[in-house]
Amino acid sequence: MNKKVPQHTGDPFSAEGVKAGFFINTMGIPTSAEIIIIGGGVIGASAAYHLASRGMKSVLLLEREPFFGQGSTGRCAGGVRYQFGTEVNIRLSLESLPMLERFKQELGRDIDYRKCGYLFVLTDEKDVLVFQRNVKLQHDLGIETEWLGRDEICKRLPIMNFEDALAGTFHHKDGLVDPNGVVMGYINAAQKLGVKTFNNTEVTGIRLRGGKVEAVETAQGVIKTRTILNTAGPWSGQIGQMVGVNIPVSPIRRQMLTTTPLKEIPNDFPFVIDFAQSLYFHRHGEGLLMGMSNPNESPAFDTSVDDEFEVINLEAALARMPLVEKARRAAHWAGLYEVTPDAHPIYGATHVDGFTLCTGFSGHGFMHGPVSGKLMSEFILDGQFLTVDVSMLDLARFAEGRLIKEYNVV
Ligand SMILES: Cc1cc2nc3c(=O)[nH]c(=O)nc-3n(C[C@H](O)[C@H](O)[C@H](O)COP(=O)(O)OP(=O)(O)OC[C@H]3O[C@@H](n4cnc5c(N)ncnc54)[C@H](O)[C@@H]3O)c2cc1C
Repeated sequence: MNKKVPQHTGDPFSAEGVKAGFFINTMGIPTSAEIIIIGGGVIGASAAYHLASRGMKSVLLLEREPFFGQGSTGRCAGGVRYQFGTEVNIRLSLESLPMLERFKQELGRDIDYRKCGYLFVLTDEKDVLVFQRNVKLQHDLGIETEWLGRDEICKRLPIMNFEDALAGTFHHKDGLVDPNGVVMGYINAAQKLGVKTFNNTEVTGIRLRGGKVEAVETAQGVIKTRTILNTAGPWSGQIGQMVGVNIPVSPIRRQMLTTTPLKEIPNDFPFVIDFAQSLYFHRHGEGLLMGMSNPNESPAFDTSVDDEFEVINLEAALARMPLVEKARRAAHWAGLYEVTPDAHPIYGATHVDGFTLCTGFSGHGFMHGPVSGKLMSEFILDGQFLTVDVSMLDLARFAEGRLIKEYNVV
């Protein structure tokens, strides 16, 4: 368990703060901070806001790109769902999705939460058995997922071919949210509360003294700190290497494409997932967004679109929804999933005193970002996770063989 960080609620960058020992170097970067967050995606942005909302003002958020939220978060589909297969993932959704519902009220920014529902379609008997167990667990935890037969699926999706469906599941509060709105909502609110955020600031090294965090190195200077939060998503393993911590997060390319308008797509079209093929469709503007997970993708930081796999994706999509033929491709892009061996994230401490983690969301970190930032503020300030018990999702579980497998990954 990480030690509590001594509370420092003054503004380190005010005249008083400077008197108290905080300085800005000639490149405009502070020379010290209580907490440094590395990576300004949804997780880092949420953590910055939640630390500041607890009164912790001496927080720096460092992002190497010119803008926040350009990593995985900026490339994600924006899907949010309650339908998971492990208790901890469902509990994370039970906290995180209501935070997105309250977002405008709490942070003053509209994030366009559209509750179109997720409709999982199952065509493989072994998936049906696992989903039956998952739905039972969801019901036990208060999630009212519907179990659908083939006729009901075909009735709800008349523009799709699902004659081979064995069963399906639907939850009406699952849906879509704007990722950029969430990141910038948190960043702006954190800034107002005193967090200093820096773009174009790559962390290039970390200094330790006696096994404890001492400072972060950037091209703009060295920043002293006792606490680092690594929220570098697919790159979090590289940050771990700087301090000799092995973080089993693999960058796996995932890509998608959008189409020109298709007037046949109804406004309430759900987020449809053909689970056996990892093929998905949802409404995007007046057209569609379609994606498919390539099971043969090897770990790499390549974010170019794989044109050959895009053809495979399109053929599978056309077989399910022939009217796709009428549209043209509007855009396509690839991003990186940050995948752990059990498809669950990693929260908390490492063997290096002061080096903490929140990473490895394996394709569902956008929706769990709000609660995860809050959980890390609790871990750093209170020494424990209060909102959801995620203590079993520690880094040590990999070495100790305590893996908790999530089946419902797309
Ligand atoms: C195609 C695709 C579709 C997805 N769809 C969904 C979805 O529908 N729903 C969902 O919940 N999730 C989805 N995800 C997953 C989701 O995007 C991620 O789990 C989530 O965005 C991870 O957030 P993060 O803040 O950990 O990482 P990131 O957003 O990648 O942020 C990490 C940041 O760290 C920065 N960084 C890295 N190294 C350094 C350094 N040395 N110094 C400073 N900064 C550094 C990076 O530039 C980056 O901005 C999808 C992902 C992809 C790729």
